[in-house]
Amino acid sequence: MSRVGVLGGGQLGRMMGLAGLPLGMEFVFLDPSAEACAGQLGELLQAGFSDIEAARTIAGMVDVATFDFENVPREAALALAEIKPLFPPPAALGACQDRLEEKRILTSLGIRVAPNHAVSSRTDLLDGLDQLGMPSVLKTRRMGYDGKGQVVLRDQEDLERAWQTLGDAELILEKFIPFDAECSLVAVRGQDRETRYWPLTRNVHFEGILMLSLADDFDAGLQAQAEAIMQRVLDYFDYVGVLTREFFLQDGQLLVNEMAPRVHNSGHWTIDGAETSQFENHLRAIAGLPLGGTSATGQSLMFNWIGELPDAQELLSIPGLHWHDYGKSARPGRKLGHATLTANSRVALVDRANRAATLAGGRFTALLKKLPGFVT
Ligand code: AMP
Repeated sequence: MSRVGVLGGGQLGRMMGLAGLPLGMEFVFLDPSAEACAGQLGELLQAGFSDIEAARTIAGMVDVATFDFENVPREAALALAEIKPLFPPPAALGACQDRLEEKRILTSLGIRVAPNHAVSSRTDLLDGLDQLGMPSVLKTRRMGYDGKGQVVLRDQEDLERAWQTLGDAELILEKFIPFDAECSLVAVRGQDRETRYWPLTRNVHFEGILMLSLADDFDAGLQAQAEAIMQRVLDYFDYVGVLTREFFLQDGQLLVNEMAPRVHNSGHWTIDGAETSQFENHLRAIAGLPLGGTSATGQSLMFNWIGELPDAQELLSIPGLHWHDYGKSARPGRKLGHATLTANSRVALVDRANRAATLAGGRFTALLKKLPGFVT
């Protein structure tokens, strides 16, 4: 079975490792940190992501390679891809590294995105605000994630502050979308181009960070709408592996927020709540194996543990709770783990979710109210 190289040794790489070991796969992770949490699941090559020689070295050690985050420098990805197959394709990686480029591609494919304006100067910003109005969101084109590198502009004061913090980077101004909900679709495409989709997931964010993901909460019409959008992008890139697309839902229509050329936090529920997890199917796809089923096996809700882990001792007393500790040291804002609650009925899931939110503390009880039907 394959030896898999992963650029990045974070929790996504770690969960790939956990999914791949039963398939008989072996792993080599490349990460600048000796403490990279995926290192427990395979060999860890400690090197910077822009280190071209390290990219060639890992290529020589494995049969196939992938990445667990999208900011892998293009040159390193291409150097690796010259030696061994790298999936998803580097072109998709490149497109997802630049919010403006990504929106241009989506628009050219006839896919709706938030109206936006490229910003390289203060004049561009003022022009953009003339066109889009306030509120708008100013974001860095590159390297932004989890709400980092973005500011909502509601008045002149916000504008001045945002320009001082972000003005040195290449930016994009987006119209603020007063969405009814946020959701995401995770898809997987094999080397034989067979494509499967997990059910749409309803997501709740706090300060730009995902906090809750409720699986399979939308009707077949919206699922079909999301799959049709995804299909166009998968075909465009001749994609292999898992691709995730985050959407804003407004008046029954989906607007693409952004895409990730990788397994995604909003798909973590698939480990415990779907026939095959996103991690296993990603590995099956890149290794040329048949894909597994993507149906939900019941009701699932994921809680993200950010900055600190709640007490596992108490939470594990809730039936259907699956605990995932990434083995990382605690730091404010850091993704340290998650738990997925599973149940056979929505009534049972709501009951378990309220118990979990109370035990986990923090904002969870308030955040649960954003999920329709979860208030008790
Ligand atoms: P992003 O990093 O672009 O996914 O943004 C993180 C979160 O910020 C999103 O999940 C939304 O909750 C919020 N957000 C980003 N862009 C917009 C927008 N144009 N309109 C409204 N909310 C946004």
